[in-house]
Amino acid sequence: MILSKSDYKIATSCCKKLVYKKASYPTMNDGNEYMEMLAQGGYIVSKYAQLLYPMGIEVKGNSIEEAIHITKTLLKDNEYITLFEATFLSDGKVIRTDILEKKKDVLHIIEVKSKSYDSDDEDNPKKKFEEYIEDVAYQILTVKEACPDYEIHPYLLLPDKAKRTTIDGLAGWFTITKMEDERFEIEELPAQGAIKFQKPLIEFKYENSIDKGKYIDLLQNDNLLTLMPVDKEVNEMMNTVVSKANLYLNILENGIQPKDYSINKNCKNCEFNIGDEMGKNGYRECWKELTDISPHIFDLYFGGAIGSPSKGFYLNELINNKKVSFFNLDIERFKNSKGEYGSRGERQLLQFENTKINSEWISSEMKNALSRLKYPLHFIDFETYTGAIPYHKGMRPYEFIAFQWSCHTIQKPGDAPQHSEFINREYNFPNFRFAEQLMQAIGTTGTPVMWSSFENTILRTILEQMDVYNYQNDTLREWLTGITTDKKQNRTGRFVDMNELTLKYYFHPYMKGKTSIKKVLPAIWNNNPYLHAIPWFEQYVPADETTLNPYDTLAPIIGELEKEEVVKDGTGAMRAYNEIMFGSANNPERREQLIQLLLQYCELDTMAMVIIWKYWMDKSGL
Ligand code: SF4
Repeated sequence: MILSKSDYKIATSCCKKLVYKKASYPTMNDGNEYMEMLAQGGYIVSKYAQLLYPMGIEVKGNSIEEAIHITKTLLKDNEYITLFEATFLSDGKVIRTDILEKKKDVLHIIEVKSKSYDSDDEDNPKKKFEEYIEDVAYQILTVKEACPDYEIHPYLLLPDKAKRTTIDGLAGWFTITKMEDERFEIEELPAQGAIKFQKPLIEFKYENSIDKGKYIDLLQNDNLLTLMPVDKEVNEMMNTVVSKANLYLNILENGIQPKDYSINKNCKNCEFNIGDEMGKNGYRECWKELTDISPHIFDLYFGGAIGSPSKGFYLNELINNKKVSFFNLDIERFKNSKGEYGSRGERQLLQFENTKINSEWISSEMKNALSRLKYPLHFIDFETYTGAIPYHKGMRPYEFIAFQWSCHTIQKPGDAPQHSEFINREYNFPNFRFAEQLMQAIGTTGTPVMWSSFENTILRTILEQMDVYNYQNDTLREWLTGITTDKKQNRTGRFVDMNELTLKYYFHPYMKGKTSIKKVLPAIWNNNPYLHAIPWFEQYVPADETTLNPYDTLAPIIGELEKEEVVKDGTGAMRAYNEIMFGSANNPERREQLIQLLLQYCELDTMAMVIIWKYWMDKSGL
């Protein structure tokens, strides 16, 4: 059996995962839209990187053996050559390199990653890239063994946040046109037993243009990637990589031993935990009779952070003793090093005590907090896009685009919520229009309410962008300064965060250790049918009352869109926006459908806040 780069990578997080991967156990990444999107983002950066090496030749082959043979031949026959996907084998280890440059007897191995780097940040520790450096070190080990006569230098090639593009619509130069027929592993994904994703085919818009050379020149001049030499880091890591590779190869050959792995707190996020699904379930095989204990110590709010790597984590202690019921938790351990509960410990205590009696809890302080909100109340939610390859001229890699907001406003006590919204339909940088329209909608009176600090961060960043892009609008500048909190500047804004109110003043056992709106809403909505009869919310009550989560009642409102196209999470929103911008230019009907779905999704988010607020008001007797 061979040890590929992705085999090596998964084994570094847990040796038992390697065994499950090789035995094609299903994982929860199978069909995971978010993971797939991340992988596709990585492939777009790879395509961009390849275009920076226009003389590069892709090593193709119908099998690994053939790819290895082609690589060997091309290296032997050429003093200078650049290869994509060059393939090497040594002692059971197999790797493909993203980019390999041969200059006489020197090889440069270049690993392309979509994680961002900031060359302006002098404190930028290469530590942030440790995982990738280990990845490159495994490649260097294999290439060195396969080609001992070469001098080899490793590099990472990364999107650089210090650079700005000079090309408008750059992201539109790359499209994911279709999946290739051939199925093979996407290495950016943590584990895929049987291979579930197909490698996306990234198409360069000008591939067949007679001016292709001109566009490639533009890309090269614009180069948003930075080459980071990692010789020293790879050398320092090499002994570890050699011994790990030997251990993993030994497991593949002779089977895994009990000493090679143990269940621990990291199992909480194991991709082989496929819940109650039938068939091979890796998590269940590891956890045996401890699998179904509920509530579980993993349900504790920030439970994994109790303890320390040197003294041992509290959850690992309990797992070692097979005490994984939530009720095995000792509340004394929620205290910090000063012997106090602290804000995290207090939340844990609250969760523990109310889970024990299976009871909802609302603090009497909630009443005061709600009373301090000033009418008109504006419930606000944003949707944003961020990607390695920017959309608009002047933008950096991963600079965000604020493309949509929704707002429900309640003018005075007893009034029905009024809805307003914005979605960008134009092809230019939308952030200032986004903020200006929001300013018009909510003005300078009342309390804007959000869930999490995200909206505050976005508006604060737009304020900073006004300087970067030299955007002149004094009214907007003043409004953004007044509404946002900036701790560094000692400035407190107008926003109130409902997530913070939840953390301090509300708990329902249904939420377990979570406080996201997607957890709080169903806890309240499912347990309080009186809310369903309130006319403001009735559109979210399905006719048969079988679907109790309003997010599940979202259905396509136009046309016959497939079920999976219903936009009901942030990832779906980003994908939809990308398609609106670059994928459906020739299909106005499709474009309009996607816009309507996005509007529907964002509107529900702010209505969800109104539902929760209304319930808290009622509970507090206001
Ligand atoms: S459940 Fe834990 S021990 Fe088992 S494969 Fe997953 S991470 Fe490894």
